Amino acid sequence: MAFCFEAVTSLSRCLRFTTSLPRLQVSHARSIQSEPAELPLSPPSTSESMYNFVVVGGGSGGLALASNLSRKYGKGQVAVVEPSDEHFYQPLWTLVGGGQKKKEQSRKLMKDVMPGACDWIKDKAVKFDPENNSLTTAEGKTVQYNYLVVAMGMQLNFDKLKGLVEALEHDPQVCCNYSYHTVDKTFQAMQNFKSGNAIFTFPNTPVKCAGAPQKIMYLAEEYFRENDKRDGANVMYFSPLGAIFSAPKYAAVMNRICKERGIQVNLKHNLVEIKPDTREAVFANLNTDPNELITVPYAMLHVPPPMGPPDILKASPLAGPSGFLSVSKDTGQHTKYPNVFGIGDCTDFPTSKTAAAIAGQSGILLKTINAVVSGLTPYAKYNGYTSCPLVTGRRSCVLAEFDYTLEPLETFPVDQSVERRTAYHMKADLLPTMYWNGLIKGIWHGPGMFRKLLHLGFSK
Ligand code: FAD
Repeated sequence: MAFCFEAVTSLSRCLRFTTSLPRLQVSHARSIQSEPAELPLSPPSTSESMYNFVVVGGGSGGLALASNLSRKYGKGQVAVVEPSDEHFYQPLWTLVGGGQKKKEQSRKLMKDVMPGACDWIKDKAVKFDPENNSLTTAEGKTVQYNYLVVAMGMQLNFDKLKGLVEALEHDPQVCCNYSYHTVDKTFQAMQNFKSGNAIFTFPNTPVKCAGAPQKIMYLAEEYFRENDKRDGANVMYFSPLGAIFSAPKYAAVMNRICKERGIQVNLKHNLVEIKPDTREAVFANLNTDPNELITVPYAMLHVPPPMGPPDILKASPLAGPSGFLSVSKDTGQHTKYPNVFGIGDCTDFPTSKTAAAIAGQSGILLKTINAVVSGLTPYAKYNGYTSCPLVTGRRSCVLAEFDYTLEPLETFPVDQSVERRTAYHMKADLLPTMYWNGLIKGIWHGPGMFRKLLHLGFSK
């Protein structure tokens, strides 16, 4: 069968890579002189260090690649530049906001998840100099590399929405699942809610997990129903986009669910200001005139902040026109610097930004990096696989999986657009385990192989 052939071919390629010499052949890489295996293994001084591989960011994508690369190339070859003491499993925050999980379950200490064979440079990258294969950290260290992996995630720009910071600080009814520090306000706001407008918004920027702004709405609506608050609640969704979800198959289901559950969907409406003093949300009506503002009172307001690429990435030669890391959508290799690679939310892969996408990207990235290190042309091709478990209640979920074409790429041989309890348990109980023990350890590269098996080799 096709998948068996693929597995044997990729295994033989891997075996070839493990024995091949890692040499980079690129004209711009002026400072690369020797075989990476002969490089100094530890920093020669406190202000300067040199590694074969440097990974910027110890989040989902950074750790997935750092684990793999350090396993393959050995101790001291890989450094991870990461300032944070903590690592978060962000997909759990939907369920924390919904009151099903505790936020502490989403957090581990960075020292406990950092791969043992990596050197952790506990500092922030502040400047990239890809012409000289180096970066500078906030403490003024220069870190040189042969190969760079950028995995810095998205920057949350709370201050770019008028009134949001103030509202999150002072109004208990304004909440946000997008940060560990604000996520526990969401369930409290649901509990405090008595009656009125419960408003859920979508930002007018790129977003990580584009389903998260509406998942929490379904959990809240169910909570109101089960706690005798639904009659007085007007549940409203506002999005600047023209559709409730990008992939049409799942958009149709979500529209139907909203209709059946009496949720008012307002597309092409952009939240421009929050007035916590008077508990009002101000929207620009993109359907007619963006200057036409509509003011809606709220009794609960969930707001994902504006998001974008990290400022230092945007200001660097590594950024593409959107400000995100410019990579080949097939291989994850940088479009200008062949020894630079990217994974996850900070890249311009034209797919939905999720941890599931990172799983799919990680397998491709490893093949790409191994090919480049071996002086070969990258051959692996990412299909844009991404997934969004659209939680619709405490016992139900629509497991959306799709690719660059926005066509379904479903793992299981059933119609996944049907709400299922099994999909909910997968999201709540199985995926966290797969994340901590598989994805960030670099051993889970997405469900592609299972999909082919379960579809008897006939899936894409
Ligand atoms: P991150 O995991 O955010 O890591 C980035 C890392 O880079 C951080 O550790 C940060 O400290 C570090 N960093 C930043 N700047 C610098 C710098 N200058 N120097 C060095 N390091 C730096 N995905 C799903 O698959 N399914 C879901 O159901 C789902 N639900 C979600 C719900 C919510 C509420 C949220 C917020 C996200 C959800 N996601 C979901 C998305 C998923 O969590 C992200 O797509 C994924 O974690 C991104 O991984 P990353 O490695 O790109 O970035």
